[in-house]
Amino acid sequence: MNDHTINIRCIQHYMYCPRRFALLELNDDWSENAFVVKANLQHQHVHDGSHSYSDSQKIVRSGISVYNDAEEYDIFGITDCIEFVRSNSGTVLNGHDGYFQVRIIEYKPKAPKSDDFNETDAIQVFAQKICADQIWKCDSEAYIYYSDTRKRVKLPFDTEYKKYDAMLRQLLSEMRKLLEEKKMPVRKKGQKCSGCSMADICFPKEKKYSVRDIVMSQKGTDIQ
Ligand code: SF4
Repeated sequence: MNDHTINIRCIQHYMYCPRRFALLELNDDWSENAFVVKANLQHQHVHDGSHSYSDSQKIVRSGISVYNDAEEYDIFGITDCIEFVRSNSGTVLNGHDGYFQVRIIEYKPKAPKSDDFNETDAIQVFAQKICADQIWKCDSEAYIYYSDTRKRVKLPFDTEYKKYDAMLRQLLSEMRKLLEEKKMPVRKKGQKCSGCSMADICFPKEKKYSVRDIVMSQKGTDIQ
């Protein structure tokens, strides 16, 4: 890991708003709102170990740390869940007989209304796949499980690998450029801020320091 190693969860912050990513990474700012707390609670539940089990078909593990240290990626993160499914061919696991197919499962609370999945979620899971493929020398499958519909959606990395790989590399390059330049980006035109937990830090409500306001607020002054 070096100065430019990127945490996979930061990719979504950057995609949501580069200024949010910069506030977190350059200023070390952090603020939570109800959306963030809800998402954190769900992930704590997923990572508390209760989702880890084994049966005759598969070995399931939650909260596995993954990384890919190839220069073009240099990323790390924690997966919600990985299933190692018994198969006739595939990955060999230490301490286990036979072969396994690797499946990444990402948990999300709500399914999108119009699409099968959000592109920002797919990029996050693709980054996990890049890590898993290096660690277990495999071509992993990836799914998003939506809690509200209780459905799994398979992500199209087998047919659209090149597209997602190009998107991920482009994003990582932009993020590293921003970190190197240490320059706070301005708010993007059309940026939606209503759900952003960083809004109070990003646009403080307090009035700017003003000598005139201070003088005018002093009792007995007749300055106009
Ligand atoms: S308040 Fe808006 S501009 Fe500021 S970090 Fe959040 S999303 Fe970005």
